[in-house]
Amino acid sequence: MLGKGLLTGMAVTLREMFRKNVTEEYPEVQPDLGERFRGGRLELNVSKCIACGLCMTNCPNGSIKLTTVKDENNKRQLNTYVHNTGLCLFCNLCIEACPPKCIEWSKEFAYSGYSRDALIFDCMALDKQQSAEDKSQTTEEKG
Ligand code: SF4
Ligand code: SF4
Repeated sequence: MLGKGLLTGMAVTLREMFRKNVTEEYPEVQPDLGERFRGGRLELNVSKCIACGLCMTNCPNGSIKLTTVKDENNKRQLNTYVHNTGLCLFCNLCIEACPPKCIEWSKEFAYSGYSRDALIFDCMALDKQQSAEDKSQTTEEKG
């Protein structure tokens, strides 16, 4: 039939005009990342960490570097903890290996930088910063 293609095309256009948008107005609207999202940096809960080093030894790409010290009771304590996201495979093996489950993925995905060093995160410093922010927020709420 003459014009059948045109009619079909117009029908598709009409249908699409009333369909719900599937695009997001990023960055104004942040994406709703799923629970199992991998791609951020590692968030470390220093107070729960037992400094066993299993995350570092299980990492196939050497993305985690940590050092420990012994305290006055000869107990191992975390001294430094760095996650190099530039080397990370986002394989999750570190998180699976962690006995007290004190590392998890942050929901931060839009980090970038002009050098490889910008992809290296000091997880202990970030945990300290986060704890200070949480504390000040609680004080403000009580306030
Ligand atoms: S996700 Fe994989 S590659 Fe990345 S730090 Fe963990 S173990 Fe290493
Ligand atoms: S595996 Fe977990 S508890 Fe052990 S050093 Fe790594 S983050 Fe800390």
